[in-house]
Amino acid sequence: MTPTDLIKPCPSTPETGASSREIGRFGPCRAGEEGPVLVLLGGVHGNEPAGIHAARRVLGSLRADPPGSFRGTLVALAGNVGALRSPPGTRYIDRDLNRSFTPELLATPDPGCAECAEARAILDAIGREHDAGRPMFVVDMHTTSAPSDPIVVLEDSLPARRFGRAFGPALLLGFEEEVDGLLIDHLTRTLGCVACVIEGGQHEDPASVDALESAVWVALAAAGIISRADIPAAHRGALARAAGHRAGRVYDLRHRELIVDPSFEMRDGFDAHTPVRAGQSIATHGDGPVRAPVRGELFLPNRQPVKRPGDDAFFIVREVSPGWLDLSAWLRRSGPLRSLIGILPGVHRVAGRPDALLIDGQVAAVLKRQVFHLFGYRIVRRGDEPRVPRFRPWGAVRGFLSAAWHARSPTGEGDRRFWLVARRTLDIAAERSGPRAR
Ligand SMILES: [Zn+2]
Repeated sequence: MTPTDLIKPCPSTPETGASSREIGRFGPCRAGEEGPVLVLLGGVHGNEPAGIHAARRVLGSLRADPPGSFRGTLVALAGNVGALRSPPGTRYIDRDLNRSFTPELLATPDPGCAECAEARAILDAIGREHDAGRPMFVVDMHTTSAPSDPIVVLEDSLPARRFGRAFGPALLLGFEEEVDGLLIDHLTRTLGCVACVIEGGQHEDPASVDALESAVWVALAAAGIISRADIPAAHRGALARAAGHRAGRVYDLRHRELIVDPSFEMRDGFDAHTPVRAGQSIATHGDGPVRAPVRGELFLPNRQPVKRPGDDAFFIVREVSPGWLDLSAWLRRSGPLRSLIGILPGVHRVAGRPDALLIDGQVAAVLKRQVFHLFGYRIVRRGDEPRVPRFRPWGAVRGFLSAAWHARSPTGEGDRRFWLVARRTLDIAAERSGPRAR
């Protein structure tokens, strides 16, 4: 196969999403495909078509002037086709599609909702592109209701960190622990591929399409499909420039607030990255205030014209220091150091699951997610016991000492007095692949 064959677009591929979920593809269209696969998604939220426009622009550029280094396959898919075909501004029909990739919904034979059918069709389309012998990357492109810099949202595994850092703007970690049913989390856990969300900016801002277009070019290079030299000059470093002083910073998600009343409104002056204090009134619903439960920076404040109960109201994030990230990478790469978490009181191995731990709820509430993340563990399930109150450190210490003293043991993996944590799928895969993959 010559380089020309490899970059020849497949003529049978539809160029628009008018009659198909596939927006377009670029790469070889015959047997013997090779190189990485990059899957783009646009319009997973129907009121966010910017990703579709960005994907079309890049596909057009590739067809007009194919880069010599191209090796692999680029596939662009439309997300919520039903909502995209509905009147403009329709975010979803029955439920948020990007909260619908839960094991429970996917296992229900006929859940009877439009987005449940969309979710299955998207997974089928991505599954058709998956080939165990070829690295796969997924970039799910979104925009925000409030003004915002571009930001990359991804899980905190070392391969995902490396992919995310290539883009240039801020990174947000830990989203998948607070939000169930994310497409990127489902794909990483089931297909073992690096997947991220990119928020390009505000919905109607033309700069959001520009930012997402830059993101697609960077993703092609980060996936190894084109060389960095083949990223058009206008898109090199563009996302970092758009992110301004927040470029390269890393944030950890600390709180997700849900809308319980459709009258929810953010207060004026509370925008993306506005600093908030614990207890501060930052929004209203019904007759009362909605207060920030923890300190940090506001993220994704909901300024959608229509708010439905169960939608995200806002998130609170906190910056993570480069030193913490380096320390956690070092601990994760070293098996003996990583196993130190196992000597803490209240920490138990799980029979038959070498990469999981059960942590006494009283200990876990004190250690909190930062400690688990440091050692490369994600929270799979919290225990049923109430969380330690924030303003009562003595209560936390007493609970910790009590757990250490009584040394209660779990009755099994499902013991709800214990939190279940597990190492990241991609960290485990990278470890098996050897030092170069890590
Ligand atoms: Zn979105």
